[in-house]
Amino acid sequence: MTPKAFQSLLLSLPNELLLLIHDSIEPWDLLAHVCYHQLHARTRACYAKAYMTDFWQNLIFYNGLRITWRDVEPTETVWREAALRYAKHAWTCAQPACGRERLATNRHLMQRALATWDSDDWDGTFILDSREAAFSGDIESSDIFRYINFNNSFPGHDLDEDTRSMLTGECAFLRADPEIDEGWRMTDLLANHPIALDSFATFPPISWLRIFQDFIEGEDADVETTNDEGVTVGEALTSLATLLDKGLTQDKISTLVCFGPWVDLPDVDDSAPFPSSWSQQDAVRAAHRVGHWFQITRWTGFTFECFDETGMIAFIKCEDKQLPDNVRTHIAKYSYPRTD
Ligand SMILES: [Zn+2]
Repeated sequence: MTPKAFQSLLLSLPNELLLLIHDSIEPWDLLAHVCYHQLHARTRACYAKAYMTDFWQNLIFYNGLRITWRDVEPTETVWREAALRYAKHAWTCAQPACGRERLATNRHLMQRALATWDSDDWDGTFILDSREAAFSGDIESSDIFRYINFNNSFPGHDLDEDTRSMLTGECAFLRADPEIDEGWRMTDLLANHPIALDSFATFPPISWLRIFQDFIEGEDADVETTNDEGVTVGEALTSLATLLDKGLTQDKISTLVCFGPWVDLPDVDDSAPFPSSWSQQDAVRAAHRVGHWFQITRWTGFTFECFDETGMIAFIKCEDKQLPDNVRTHIAKYSYPRTD
């Protein structure tokens, strides 16, 4: 049967049956619901009650996504428009860290979080307040961070929060394969990937994220972000970019060059953080800002530790990675988009 013939057959059914088909689509199946909604005015009519039940909002939530609000009143119509936008992007995006694969991964992680965590730990919106100490389960950071790296376009530290947040999508990009580090293309910029940007940063989603790192000395070594509806990847990155933009002290660079950030990792050889062909000066050049630091290590996300007095703290997690013999080859990768 051709799609057109199938559509004619479907639309010959009475409204009650169209409604039954609507009810049989899983409440988390974003792409199927958007298809059904867009098919015809009669199938769209099945969603008339959606406005009373937070249908679109919940559909987005179960796909591990949250809209980052910017001067927009969060009505059900706005949620529906967002669902249509996400679905349209999912059908066209081939990035494994975004698109349909990200929706499937997010759904899996949401289902697991909902099953693992005791409902007593959730507030009314199913967002965990990680300031509360003594949880009964683990918080895991989204695996999306394995795919994210920073180019050399960090927003300046003198910018206001809104501008900085807008520019985060321009200073970070998605790698097609977290193991392969080939530089980036314009289409890899996070700004072009709304599903990746709006995914929850953690599972379960949390309302407070405090990121701590020991690359920067002094009192600015941590940064926090809050969102009562769940901190997203975009928000976590904006905070992180704020932190990274502060740069490193010369002393800290020297220590890192000698020992590497993975010095505490048990399985990593900390004696040779850089290729032997790199001079110490090369290493300093490649690590003169922390943004570049993520270019000489492989960032894998966050690990969480609970401190009674402050709640869950997110620590930056890195792995060793293979670096090219020539530091210029390496730095050039991050400066310009690939042209292929
Ligand atoms: Zn995408």
